[in-house]
Amino acid sequence: MKNIAVIGSGTMGNGIAHVFAQSGYRVALIDIHAEALKKALATIEKNLDRQVGKQTISEATKKSALANITTYTDLKTGVAESDLVVEAATENVDIKLKIFKDLDGFCKPEAILASNTSSISITKIGSVTQRAEKVIGMHFMNPVPIMKLVEVIRGYSTTNEVTNTIMELSKNLGKIPVEVNDYPGFIANRILMPMINEAIYSLYEGVAGVEEIDTVMKLGMAHPMGPLQLADFIGLDVCLSILQVLHDGFGNPKYAPCPLLVNMVQAGHKGVKTGTGFYTYQAGSKDLIPAQRFRK
Ligand code: NAD
Repeated sequence: MKNIAVIGSGTMGNGIAHVFAQSGYRVALIDIHAEALKKALATIEKNLDRQVGKQTISEATKKSALANITTYTDLKTGVAESDLVVEAATENVDIKLKIFKDLDGFCKPEAILASNTSSISITKIGSVTQRAEKVIGMHFMNPVPIMKLVEVIRGYSTTNEVTNTIMELSKNLGKIPVEVNDYPGFIANRILMPMINEAIYSLYEGVAGVEEIDTVMKLGMAHPMGPLQLADFIGLDVCLSILQVLHDGFGNPKYAPCPLLVNMVQAGHKGVKTGTGFYTYQAGSKDLIPAQRFRK
């Protein structure tokens, strides 16, 4: 494999393009918004600079990584030469199904089509193509250049050969791939999201405050970040939509999102990206301060 297309140049797309380009692959980075592509290139350059500063890569590697990336706003042109496409567009089922339908028509017949989705069924995505056996999940973690895990998700029809190719490719990127089957939430979010939801329920029921809940999990379980801070970092809207996928997919009330989480999302308090969630976030501030309504 030489030519990789990455679709969507947001938080995850720019990181995925970064790691492929740094490992010597030619990357076509595609987004519907030219502005998003410009921002992604600036972020990739800044992150490569940081690696040069820490002497984990050389200046020459940085230059060749940047030279390996070409940006496109037109999907058909961008994916024409691709051996593998990694889709990292907005987490919305209609957007993803449309992209994969188009990809099936635009890509070489032998190309593998991967999605970085956090929660949408790979089997469902594969079903809108004529190549479901070559559709797979490649779930990178945020921030992509730093986090080692890639959850490799086999759809119902994904072949052993395609799975093995993606496992090997992930290792070539310096990542540690783990193979899982396609059921709601896969493994990462099936286990993480109920824990976050339980932390929110504990707050909602008044068992303890924001800082107390996070401190118990940090000091007691050696988690680097408490579940409420982590939820803010992921985005409370994203947490809610993943819990809804788990709830719908398994039909089990244990996955029902906490009403407090639903309220916070409806109020627009979605965590770091909106400046308030369980904590408040001010530009430049390193202090973790609970949001006004959670202060004692
Ligand atoms: P984001 O909102 O930061 O970026 C999404 C990008 O997709 C935007 O730049 C948008 O312009 C672009 N886009 C939308 N429709 C498009 C289309 N039709 N064609 C091309 N580009 C299009 O989102 P993100 O956080 O980077 O998430 C991307 C994917 O990665 C989602 O499936 C998400 O579930 C998954 N994911 C996110 C995280 C995370 O922590 N953010 C972690 C793991 C997986």
